[in-house]
Amino acid sequence: MANSSAAADVDVGANLKPKVNGLMGSGDSASYPTTTTTKTTTAAAAAAGAGKLELLQDGLSCSELFKNGEGLTYNDFLILPGYIDFAAEEVDLSSPLTKGITLRAPLVSSPMDTVTESEMAIAMALCGGIGIIHHNCTPEYQALEVHKVKKYKHGFMRDPSVMSPTNTVGDVLEARRKNGFTGYPVTENGKLGGKLLGMVTSRDIDFRENQPEILLADIMTTELITAPNGITLPTANAILEKSKKGKLPIVNQDGELVAMIARTDLKKARSYPNASKDSNKQLLVGAAIGTRHEDKARLHLLVANGVDVIILDSSQGNSIYQVEMIKFIKDTYPDLQVIGGNVVTRAQAKNLIEAGVDGLRVGMGSGSICITQEVMACGCPQATAVHQVSTFAKQFGVPVIADGGIQSIGHIVKAMALGASAVMMGSLLAGTSEAPGEYFFSDGVRLKKYRGMGSLEAMERGDAKGAAMSRYYHNEMDKMKVAQGVSGSIVDKGSVLRYLPYLECGLQHSCQDIGANSVSKLREMIYNGQLRFMKRTHSAQLEGNVHGLFSYEKRLF
Ligand code: NAD
Ligand code: IMP
Repeated sequence: MANSSAAADVDVGANLKPKVNGLMGSGDSASYPTTTTTKTTTAAAAAAGAGKLELLQDGLSCSELFKNGEGLTYNDFLILPGYIDFAAEEVDLSSPLTKGITLRAPLVSSPMDTVTESEMAIAMALCGGIGIIHHNCTPEYQALEVHKVKKYKHGFMRDPSVMSPTNTVGDVLEARRKNGFTGYPVTENGKLGGKLLGMVTSRDIDFRENQPEILLADIMTTELITAPNGITLPTANAILEKSKKGKLPIVNQDGELVAMIARTDLKKARSYPNASKDSNKQLLVGAAIGTRHEDKARLHLLVANGVDVIILDSSQGNSIYQVEMIKFIKDTYPDLQVIGGNVVTRAQAKNLIEAGVDGLRVGMGSGSICITQEVMACGCPQATAVHQVSTFAKQFGVPVIADGGIQSIGHIVKAMALGASAVMMGSLLAGTSEAPGEYFFSDGVRLKKYRGMGSLEAMERGDAKGAAMSRYYHNEMDKMKVAQGVSGSIVDKGSVLRYLPYLECGLQHSCQDIGANSVSKLREMIYNGQLRFMKRTHSAQLEGNVHGLFSYEKRLF
């Protein structure tokens, strides 16, 4: 074993050289002012009136908040307000995800099979965050999802439903019932990538509802207006306008269908100036893998499809398996960003930092679907975990993602105020239209499934995407399953493309209240003691929520 984690309770970081000009601060020490601060700023001085900051410093510094060693959660404390001399929309939310990737918004979607596939990852990246594609599927399925994100072009449908000439009017009527629209391209093989032969639209189907057996080959429109692959959105828009058609197929030089544009989508399209993109202007995407031997083949496939960052997905990342996998990835693909985890202690973090991670994922037992702390008796309250790992990892310029237990904008801000560079969300994003899975109704409420990746249901996944059996079962002992998660449902939240701007706007307002005009300023304020915290008693928590009303409606945006 390369690093003995057992002995790491003492002497954490003994083998590691702190980074002096680290990504996240001066990094010359893990400690920072506790009782008074020596650094005053104009804003703080103004707030203090006379400039005697020491005398007017309320609450606790971050290190004081945690100095008793209790396990705290986000709800156990508040951040005291600061001084405002800037507008909320000026707050810069840029923050590092890893040593090599900075996001415009510190938001990450969790690699869970009810949260992140390509649709979610595209929306996350468009809004300045990033999505991590789950691995509860075959390597080929996961690689295709990565490919879809990398090849995404805003406004272009890259996965349109396609018919073949041997499909019938009945098939189109059935597809209309399912999808709600009637316009389909017809290709030789009935698939995207096949030679485009025609289009079938409502005009071709109208008055033929009673003849479901008619072949599309006999009724499709073959005089087509198409656009070449590589066309820009504004030009394609202009062609659509002129042609007065509802759909514009995009074909390559061999006449094969590669994408499509719908007039209705163009109307909805808006620009995303903060989108997370690589140097080729393609959206950023991450993918999760495990630490088994077969995960190396999965890794190669993901890299071949352009993945930007790999997350090693484990509830307890401080293992020889993970250390060896990090070294393998860094030896094989030195430029690929790797996030290790999950960890909750400095000793765990130390081993993964030594092995070469570019980021750490923090959280054990804090997820909304999680029963790890109950079943395994292992874990750590999330606020404490984020604080202790961030404080340590900062010395080496390794950013931390606070993963699990984020229920509101306030929790995001608190995670960042404890040193996290980004937050990972499951339940907050499940239930949106971009999350995998169909909506269903229960007692009149529109819901989507949300389940833990350690739930029996996820472990037993057996659908077309599925690779659960190979992911979770490796030997006779594995046949006895010990669930660490549950399966449930979440209320419909609409589109992530509307929800993320709400989160981001809320984050900007919160930073404004705190007196930080950027996320990096917020981080600076943690370590110079300027950021002040206060613990909340149980009654303070009750006071801080709606109370004393007979009834109320809580609408958030
Ligand atoms: P895991 O793959 O890390 O571990 C499963 C088992 O496989 C463990 O016993 C591990 O030691 C073993 N293992 C891993 N690599 C091995 C190798 N190369 N050789 C031999 N044994 C090896 O996954 P997990 O921790 O069970 O988590 C499963 C899923 O559930 C993940 O998606 C995880 O994120 C999620 N989960 C998360 C939390 C949390 O609190 N964050 C808690 C529980 C589960
Ligand atoms: P949430 O945002 O509170 O819903 O938490 C999501 C996080 O829970 C994920 O990013 C994982 O770290 C963690 N998680 C996922 N599946 C499980 C599980 O089955 N048990 C425990 N934790 C899980």
